[in-house]
Amino acid sequence: MKIYILIGYLIILLYATACAFFAPSNIGPLAGLAIGAGYFIFFWFLAGVYLADVLHLGIAHRSLDFRPWFVKAVTLANNIFGIYVGPVEWVNRHRLHHKYSDREGDPNKLDQDGFWRTLYLCMFPYACTENLARDEILQSRTFRLCSSNLFMAATQVFNFSLLWFIVGDAKFAAAMWIGMRIFALWVNMVQNYWTHTREFGYRRYDDETDNAMNIGEWFPVTATFSACLQNNHHHYPNLLRLSHSESEYDFGFLTIRAMKSLGLVAATKKGTVLPRDVPLSSLGF
Ligand SMILES: [Zn+2]
Repeated sequence: MKIYILIGYLIILLYATACAFFAPSNIGPLAGLAIGAGYFIFFWFLAGVYLADVLHLGIAHRSLDFRPWFVKAVTLANNIFGIYVGPVEWVNRHRLHHKYSDREGDPNKLDQDGFWRTLYLCMFPYACTENLARDEILQSRTFRLCSSNLFMAATQVFNFSLLWFIVGDAKFAAAMWIGMRIFALWVNMVQNYWTHTREFGYRRYDDETDNAMNIGEWFPVTATFSACLQNNHHHYPNLLRLSHSESEYDFGFLTIRAMKSLGLVAATKKGTVLPRDVPLSSLGF
């Protein structure tokens, strides 16, 4: 088993054990496990829609056009109730990451950065040296509010307190709250470390300018909403899907198609340009 998969499953196993162990007696271990699973799945899915679909393909790359009310609702819901990720900073860092992939100027990771250094950088990235996030929607009240430090501190205290109030036990709430964030850190490491280190995954395109790799197993693809298909994505960053072959499983694209059927998103012109060397007969959107 690949090391990144093993670590991911271990985190889930520890999370499940902690939920069962710390569940108060009036809830019991089985119901504790069920509550923990519900919390985990709901906030993983919300964070995936927010980061991988809305912020990444919708705003950072402009491959998709989400309805503005949906963009704002998802941004507020995720950052108030779930795992906080400052939207304006994230978009800027991500654009710099594409511009300077794996070299000076990339806030996520430099070529020589190893596992522990990248883990540290997931929490405290390199300073951004340019501002590439001047989009109109990023200047809106919702985005300016969600990007403030005060908002971050207040919402994280609020959503932990709310969870504590709902389940009625501080240790049980802390097990879920902290466990969820450790899993989020693993998701971040799949994107920033394991798919940007040449020893892991595979390459479709032999790009010399970066270390982007594709990791295609079911578990990391599902967990990251397909953001681990980095070699495909860095080669054609504007394409609205990250899988470049029908044989590549693409969970993120499934969620985008589901949102399209609900009328929440449409493709932009540049998102639908299918380059000739991408082995897809059609975009499938
Ligand atoms: Zn990208």
